[in-house]
Amino acid sequence: MADDSPQAIRAEAIESLLKERGLITEDDIDEVIAMYNERVGPMNGAKVVARAWTDPDFRRALLDDGSAAVAPYEFEGGQMEKLVVVENTAHVHNVVVCTLCSCYPWALLGLPPRWYKDPAYRSRIVREPRKVLAEFGLELDPAVQVRVWDSSAEVRYLVLPERPLGTDGWDAERLAERVTRDAMIGVARL
Ligand code: FE
Repeated sequence: MADDSPQAIRAEAIESLLKERGLITEDDIDEVIAMYNERVGPMNGAKVVARAWTDPDFRRALLDDGSAAVAPYEFEGGQMEKLVVVENTAHVHNVVVCTLCSCYPWALLGLPPRWYKDPAYRSRIVREPRKVLAEFGLELDPAVQVRVWDSSAEVRYLVLPERPLGTDGWDAERLAERVTRDAMIGVARL
């Protein structure tokens, strides 16, 4: 075993027990890994964002009721019972956190990055958002209002970033390639 951390050893032990008792099979595990490697990840969120940039009716629907607007996509991954989409503008910058743990819209963004679960990010982004954002390389003009959204077991947030300049006439597919995970959490702008 390449990873001999206590967590890896514990995971391995739990996995063997579950298999031994017939609760899961090797195929079940492969399926979950394949899902998060291939079908669930920021590309789903990027698709939604790019469509919102190119389809005003969809954008309105998304901001009005995120869960309902993305339901037809039938994204896998879960954690999306109540999705709230918040829109960045020239005057407002939104950033998402889960102060309590690591709630995150898996179906749209995949599994959360390590820093999102870090107690330092979770407490500091609330107390000193501009400073934390600057550490991510995002220096916001003092005139831009920062809004911090605290996720919960009930509500997950997605930031709708501003469409980058110089992308006039691009189709949704090409635009989606410009959308990053960090921009959809709100620690980056495009
Ligand atoms: Fe949480």
